[in-house]
Amino acid sequence: MKNFYKKIDFSFFSSIKIGKTFEVLIINELDTSPKLDKYKDFYIIGKASNLLISDNPPKLAMLGKQFCYIKQEQNLFFVGAGTGASKLASFAKNNNIANLEFIKNLPGTLGGLVKMNAGLKEYEIFSYISSIKTAKGYIKKEDLKYSYRKTNIKDMIYEVVFEIDSKLEYSQEKEDMFKKMRKNQPKVPSAGSCFKNPKNAFAGEILDKLGLKGFNLGDMSFSKVHANFLVNNGRGTFSQALSLINLAKQKAKEELDINLELEIIIL
Ligand SMILES: Cc1cc2nc3c(=O)[nH]c(=O)nc-3n(C[C@H](O)[C@H](O)[C@H](O)COP(=O)(O)OP(=O)(O)OC[C@H]3O[C@@H](n4cnc5c(N)ncnc54)[C@H](O)[C@@H]3O)c2cc1C
Repeated sequence: MKNFYKKIDFSFFSSIKIGKTFEVLIINELDTSPKLDKYKDFYIIGKASNLLISDNPPKLAMLGKQFCYIKQEQNLFFVGAGTGASKLASFAKNNNIANLEFIKNLPGTLGGLVKMNAGLKEYEIFSYISSIKTAKGYIKKEDLKYSYRKTNIKDMIYEVVFEIDSKLEYSQEKEDMFKKMRKNQPKVPSAGSCFKNPKNAFAGEILDKLGLKGFNLGDMSFSKVHANFLVNNGRGTFSQALSLINLAKQKAKEELDINLELEIIIL
């Protein structure tokens, strides 16, 4: 399968429903160029569940069908980084595989989940992977740096490898618990948590303290349901979203001396 360009309307494709239509390179070929820099001019995206796309983003690329697969070999399974998290969650459930119950609730691809070290509370994807594949080959988890919602991965991830813990079984109880945790989240379009939780604090509580819970600019607002969700209530725009983000950062610094760090990525 070859690479090709596809026009993608980000006001439809992105989870926050903001952005214009841009040509995106759909990658189906592993980079085997001598310097392994074939895609260096592109910013790789997954399902755009954590992105806020401006009117002038960098050149974009995403993994195509060639990188959407799940293969099991004994106690390892190899997952193409373009595979959706919910697809892998269903695979885990159908095959009675433990530990991945939480990813059912995380919108995105495996590439995006691993790059962001996505997770729910203390459950994070890096606790369960064993290695990733980039154009340079397989890199073991031990050779990567990762922390809360952060990794040092700079290269495109083509595949993620998990080790199966055969002593454990898929837990319906955990699945139900994670579903319950989602109850306090708004149902309208967003890109997930807007800011990272500072050490020993919750970004949502900080925004609430600053009087920003429910505060809006046009159709964009910090949700009334959970203040750390920047939500699009209809025809919200990039500039409204950015103004709200800047306002929150400024108020947090001036009124509470807190530096709020974005979890959403602005392109
Ligand atoms: C309603 C909602 C709830 C959410 N809840 C949570 C939550 O509880 N916990 C949480 O952690 N996140 C949450 N998120 C955020 C989102 O689910 C994660 O950040 C997810 O990992 C994004 O995956 P994606 O494929 O959409 O990546 P994108 O948003 O497209 O990209 C995110 C980052 O991943 C990189 N990336 C994507 N694919 C690759 C690849 N193949 N190789 C290298 N880098 C790549 C991009 O360059 C970018 O830096 C939520 C989002 C929404 C909309």
